[in-house]
Amino acid sequence: METRSARTLRISNIQVAFNNTPILKGVDLLVEPGEVLVLLGPSGCGKTTLLRTMAGLERPETGSVIIDERTLVGPGTWVPPDRRRIGMVFQDWALFPHLTVARNVAYGLPRDQRNTGRVEEVLATVGLTGFGDRSPATLSGGQQQRVALARALAPQPEVLLLDEPFSNLDTGLRTEVRTEVHRLLTDLGITAVFVTHDQEEAFVLGDRIAVMNDGRIEQLALPSEVYTRPASRWIASFVGEVNLVGAESTDATAHLPFGDIPLLRNTNGRDDGSVEVLLRPEDLLIAKADISPVDDIPGHGLVELVEYYGHDAMVLVRLDNGAGLRIRTGPVPPAIRGDRVVVTYRGLPTTAFPTA
Ligand code: ATP
Repeated sequence: METRSARTLRISNIQVAFNNTPILKGVDLLVEPGEVLVLLGPSGCGKTTLLRTMAGLERPETGSVIIDERTLVGPGTWVPPDRRRIGMVFQDWALFPHLTVARNVAYGLPRDQRNTGRVEEVLATVGLTGFGDRSPATLSGGQQQRVALARALAPQPEVLLLDEPFSNLDTGLRTEVRTEVHRLLTDLGITAVFVTHDQEEAFVLGDRIAVMNDGRIEQLALPSEVYTRPASRWIASFVGEVNLVGAESTDATAHLPFGDIPLLRNTNGRDDGSVEVLLRPEDLLIAKADISPVDDIPGHGLVELVEYYGHDAMVLVRLDNGAGLRIRTGPVPPAIRGDRVVVTYRGLPTTAFPTA
């Protein structure tokens, strides 16, 4: 494997507008050396535009992009894309079909370095030794993906940018290729920014995740923190499955039909009053209730649907007070459709959002 000293990528107050419409509204980001930072956000929030700005394919109205001490764009400074030492892997991989694998990879190198053995070296890095003479069309999707990676890595970039690189792959292959790319990025230790709208992909690959919404970064944190302590109600719903249940809270305790639940203090501005409580499906527990329906027994309800996945199941429960809950069970759900159940909470102190 190649070794290199990893760089810091610093983005400050980047603003980009298209036809006077602001797209990036002041983005700050610090990517640590050797870190894989995932930009996660819905379609159209500006992820690709931010990546293209880093690569020099868009000119921001204000703001700066700096690698270590080297300013690439900033007041009075503009380094063109081919001098930035940034590698980019695009959504469609952009391989040339009429060129061999080796010539596709060599395309990423300055002319005088194309016959130096670097192509073979980088093909070996991505596990494609011996594939140099093949045409891209004769390779599997996963292998084509690795050619695109090899081309981006060939000139030894200081930072690697990947824009939804798995979107061309079908679901089965995607997981496999994701693991390969994850291992490769970790082994290379290169500073990388990975764009996706897929939450699972973000969680699996990201050392940290920057959640983007409408041209801004709403939270930058470890995947586990984004999941358990989302910075906004919007993020709570965007990442993972969620129940947001209305309740009154006093002294950082939410009073819910199925008992009192401790809240993390001051995570979202206020502990007391009307809140919506974040309950992840795996933090709720159901047991069959052996009593016949009576109006509004706290925590009791009816199983409306069971969605079975094998490794677990999602049970949709309608509480007697009308609230619907999604509850994750193990591979043998303790109840089936039509059963009466009692719900309890078994999670850690959770987060709540003040009701407007
Ligand atoms: P996706 O996942 O769909 O690619 P994204 O988060 O990467 O979404 P961008 O591609 O950065 O979003 O686009 C952000 C917004 O900017 C969109 O509304 C898009 O239509 C608009 N946009 C992007 N490029 C241009 C352009 N060259 N001219 C005008 N509008 C643009």
